[in-house]
Amino acid sequence: MPRTPSRRTVLRGLTVTGAAVTGFDPAARGWAASGTGSGPDLARIPRLDGTLVMDDPSLTAAAEDYGHIVHRRPVAVLRPGSVRDVVVMVRFCNEHRVRVAPRGQGHATSGQAQVQGGLVIETATLADIGPVAPDATTVTVGAGARWSEVAKAALAHGRTPPVFTDYLELSVGGTLSVGGLGGQTHRHGAQVDNVTELQVVTGAGEFVRCSPSRHPDLFHAVSAGLGQCAIVVAATVRLVRAPETVRHYLLPYDDLETFLADQRTLVEEGRFDYVEGLVSADPGGAFRVFTLEAVAYGPPAGPAPDDTLLLRGLRHDPSGVEKTDLAYYDFLDRLAPTVAELKEAGLWTYAHPWLNLLLPGDSAAALTARMLADLTPADLGPGVVLVYPILRERLTTPLFSAPDDPVPYLFAVLRTTPPEDTATVDRLLTANREAYDAAAATGGTQYPVGSIPFTHADWRAHFGAEWPRLEAAKRTYDPRRILVPGQGIF
Ligand SMILES: Cc1cc2nc3c(=O)[nH]c(=O)nc-3n(C[C@H](O)[C@H](O)[C@H](O)COP(=O)(O)OP(=O)(O)OC[C@H]3O[C@@H](n4cnc5c(N)ncnc54)[C@H](O)[C@@H]3O)c2cc1C
Repeated sequence: MPRTPSRRTVLRGLTVTGAAVTGFDPAARGWAASGTGSGPDLARIPRLDGTLVMDDPSLTAAAEDYGHIVHRRPVAVLRPGSVRDVVVMVRFCNEHRVRVAPRGQGHATSGQAQVQGGLVIETATLADIGPVAPDATTVTVGAGARWSEVAKAALAHGRTPPVFTDYLELSVGGTLSVGGLGGQTHRHGAQVDNVTELQVVTGAGEFVRCSPSRHPDLFHAVSAGLGQCAIVVAATVRLVRAPETVRHYLLPYDDLETFLADQRTLVEEGRFDYVEGLVSADPGGAFRVFTLEAVAYGPPAGPAPDDTLLLRGLRHDPSGVEKTDLAYYDFLDRLAPTVAELKEAGLWTYAHPWLNLLLPGDSAAALTARMLADLTPADLGPGVVLVYPILRERLTTPLFSAPDDPVPYLFAVLRTTPPEDTATVDRLLTANREAYDAAAATGGTQYPVGSIPFTHADWRAHFGAEWPRLEAAKRTYDPRRILVPGQGIF
């Protein structure tokens, strides 16, 4: 007879007491009886406020992400009921050298939030959104909160975080671990540049509040630190005045260099609050249809938008301009209808071997032209190509690796392809690597949210002069190297 969840059992080194565990089926999982294993004794874990689950659907889900390419199965998934649960479980895992990966919304594309045979900590249950500070300049939010929820809470006070990702249903902890870029980055930096304090649990299981002035080494190791030194459990995010409405422009171009140059003019002048751009294929399949997307915030965050002033001197085709006035939140959440359609069509569960690069401004035109020439509509699938400039001087987070150029460009090929066609997926991963090599040869970096095959040596090069500080922080805060192996850094 298999033992029930209330008995101690052992699997591949983990001994478990059912009190804190749900979904446990020792027979189905081939677990041995208590005392027959040599592994850590989960019976020593104090009572949890949340749950530790080991049921097949939970483990299978934790071995998936938005990429649908990499699958690493954990032994257990923690749904913390409190920060204390994170401390308790990380201490336990540290003691027993069990590897741990925090997972926000699992929208990484290459197994970054997965851990084979370890513990996944789902942060979605740590999603409290604290009161907006009395001076309305910050709000403290749980790491599992999604940016849509943060935006709504701030907007109730007429405030907003200054920078958003294009898609709002990503976790705060997940985007702060990578950076968090959007069309507002040229004005305000990345999301991670707009954080005043982090509450974290280190790899040694210590809860610490850190900021640029309090444990700054830890703060800088965690911000855009790809989860290597600590798990973010809460973040204090800067808020600015929100507009009520925005004016959204789509400006068509038929020439790459003119398109990139006008984008650059706009971000250098700060004429718009948001600047991005899209590239699509013409009917012949050549990627030479360019659309500059620009947004001006209205009152009370900015003046009433004036078309003449905003569009002066730009070299788009004036006959193709699309202009829309939108409520601010509707603008932020503009991808929601498209995402619903993609889900409806089953495309959300396709493979996403994404390429995300940051190109030096001085070689952006040549590199982009070359990469677009190599791209076919079939290899993009029902995805998109994004190109937009940011300002280097606005990026202040040391571990956010960007080209040493005043105006780098994000170049993102958001590929979507059937997951069962593994040969195509592998070919696209190779193409990603080749594109990265071409970019890196001119000082480009990857924005590490995609799927580029990367070695330990690549990561050292990626972090460059910051590598010794990251390595030192890893030694101090995650001495047993249990955190986030899916990034492949240590
Ligand atoms: C549809 C879509 C649109 C996107 N748009 C943008 C965009 O406009 N701009 C942009 O910058 N990015 C964008 N991204 C990329 C996205 O920001 C990153 O993949 C981000 O990490 C995903 O957040 P998540 O909550 O899903 O994180 P996960 O995928 O769950 O985790 C990502 C990494 O962060 C680590 N991590 C997660 N939570 C924590 C935590 N609390 N503490 C420490 N480490 C943690 C994980 O272990 C993992 O290594 C987009 C992704 C998708 C799928």
